[in-house]
Parts: sequence; structure tokens; C-alpha cells
Amino acid sequence: MVQSKQFFRDTWAEVELAHVKYNVQEVRKNFQQDMHVMAVVKADGYGHGAVPVAEAALEAGASFLSVNLLDEALRLREAGIEAPILVMGRIRPEDVGIAVRHNLSITVFQIEWLQEAKQYMKEQDSLKLHVKIDSGMGRIGTVTAEELSQLLQVIETDQAFQLEAVYTHFATADELDNSYWEKQYGRFLSRLKVVEEICGMPPFIHCGNSATGLRFPEHCFNMFRFGISMYGLLPSDDIEDELPFELKRAFSLHSQLVQVKQLPKGEGISYGATYTTSGDEWIGTVPIGYADGWYRYHSSEGGTVLVDGERAPIIGRICMDQLMVRLPYQLPVGTKVTLIGKQGEDEITIQEIASRLKTISYEIPCMISSRVPRLYV
Ligand SMILES: *Cc1c(COP(=O)(O)O)cnc(C)c1O
Repeated sequence: MVQSKQFFRDTWAEVELAHVKYNVQEVRKNFQQDMHVMAVVKADGYGHGAVPVAEAALEAGASFLSVNLLDEALRLREAGIEAPILVMGRIRPEDVGIAVRHNLSITVFQIEWLQEAKQYMKEQDSLKLHVKIDSGMGRIGTVTAEELSQLLQVIETDQAFQLEAVYTHFATADELDNSYWEKQYGRFLSRLKVVEEICGMPPFIHCGNSATGLRFPEHCFNMFRFGISMYGLLPSDDIEDELPFELKRAFSLHSQLVQVKQLPKGEGISYGATYTTSGDEWIGTVPIGYADGWYRYHSSEGGTVLVDGERAPIIGRICMDQLMVRLPYQLPVGTKVTLIGKQGEDEITIQEIASRLKTISYEIPCMISSRVPRLYV
């Protein structure tokens, strides 16, 4: 095991970088040789750790990285990563010099942004741009063909700006009904005609997130933004049967029993004493709580953990730093507790937790706070 920092607590997440590499290698087989895989490592690598994941993905053949924030890109550069990086969110025009100095590619979709940014650029500065087209996501991007054409004309006529790519993002690629996806794709194609007319095709065109890349590899042009499935997770349960290969999950979460005790019938557990023992029960205390991102909602929705290869229910309210489980039998202090991942024959998947919390897989590793150390195995 490799760990970046020493830590002294009994709760940790494990990230299997070999699985990240496997997912990158497998997805590359899905495409033509000249496809560029952009490893999406925003939000600290979906909670897995941006730097180690980025390094693993690059080793496995990814050629580009992307993040949402300028700050996230700088963390990668500080770690010595020299690969191209796209910032997918909007940066402030006044920060453009930082992007230039660190050789970052920036997302642009507003003429005003270009005009303002220009004032902060030095004469010899050159800025790499990925123009974002909103084809129906309604988030960021140029909406009309006119807007796009005006934006491209500004870029085309100014030496300071290099058009590196145009791209869009799909809202429904993870749903079996492809009609909205097709509508967006069609709109993107028609916008690409505008691009070609005004400045010719840029080096890269990209539209695929994980779901699009896995389901429609032939519609990904020459770059593919690999996010959730690089971590081994499904964009949605709906497309499980459409995967071209089996994803390998990278993230697991573990702790240890710090106290084990037998309580008689009628004893209350945790704040509010909402749980009462119904007979002699073995109770284990686990040092993870909502400050670690293990939200209180887990207890009211029937959350369980794995101990000694068996399911043990979380009982009573989850505290800030600790929670209690009902053990099947007496177990020693120090016994491993798995909150996400395999133990024995059983596995608690991120999918299971996401459906318990009525959300999507994406949120689960992201919500495990930075107080939980990540171990790279
Ligand atoms: C997060 C993000 C992705 C990655 O999507 P996944 O579904 O995680 O593969 C791709 N493109 C953009 C613009 C994003 O914001």
C-alpha cells in the first residue's frame, strides 16, 4: 500500500489504481487507434484522489486530463503533471494569465469573456481554447449558431487565441431512450458546419462522456471524456447491459470496530435513543460519521456494513464521528468493517448505496470527505 501522508485513524478508503488503468486500457480498445482519451479528474478525481488517478490514467494511455476548476488544474501542475489539461468550467477572465503560464486549455463560450481576458494577456501570450457548444444541456455553452459564429470570428482573427477544440455535453446519454441524445447530436453536427466554415476543423472535437463513449464509440470524433466509468462505476443502472466490457470498481471504504459490548434488552443507542435493544445484543462502535461523509440518512434508510463477511445493520442515529452497528455475534476490537466494497462473498457496491440514498453513483465517493485518508493499492 502506498500512502501520501501518515495518518492515525482507523477509517480509510482504498483506491485500486490498477482498476483505473484497466478501465482506461479496455475503453481504448473500444475506439479507433487515433482516439484521445481525456481522463476526467475533477472533484479530486470523483473523490478518489486527482493526482494518483491522473498519473494512473496517463500511464494507461490517456493523453489529456480535465477538471472543472482552475484551482484543480493548478493542483495537478503542482504535483508535476505536465500532460495537457482542460478546465471545463468557466474561469474568471482576470485569471487568464495563470492559465497561460501553466499551459492549460480553457473552456470558452462568451465573446465578452474573450474581450475581457484579452486585457489581462501579455502581447506574446497564447491561450488554448475549447469552445463549448450547448446542444441541449442548458448549462454552459453557446446556444445559437450566430453566437457561435461570432465567437469563432473573434478567436480566428486574434493571434492570442488558439482554437484547440470544440465540444458539447449530453444530458441523457445514460438513458435507454436515445431520442434526446440524437437531437443534441444532430444540433452539434450542424454547429460543426459553422465551425468548419469559419475556421476549419480544430485539432480536437469531443462530445462523449462515459455513457456516450461506452454506448456510441463511433460518435465520439477524436477525443473522449472518460469520467465515472474510469473509476469503474456505471453512469446509470439502465445501461448495464450495454457495456462493451466489465468495469472494475476502484473505490472501497473501511473502518475497524473500536468497541464491542453486549447490552441487555431495553437499552437506547445513540442520540435521541431512537433504537432500543430488543434482547441481549452485541453492539459495535465504528469510528466514521457524517463529518466523514457517512450521512445520517444511512441509518434511517436501513444502511448496513460488512463485518466478518456478514451484514450488520447500522442502528440508532449516525453521529458526527462515529456510528453503531448490531453485530451478529461477539467480535474482537480491531475487526475490519467494510462500508463500501467486498468482504467474503458479499459486496456493498456504490450503486447499492446510491439507491439507498436516492441518488446516483457519482455522489457517493465525492461525498466521502477529505478527513478520510485514501490509500492507493
Ligand atoms: C463531468 C463531466 C464529464 C464526465 O462525465 P462522466 O459521466 O462522469 O463520464 C464529461 N464532460 C463534462 C463537461 C463534465 O462536466
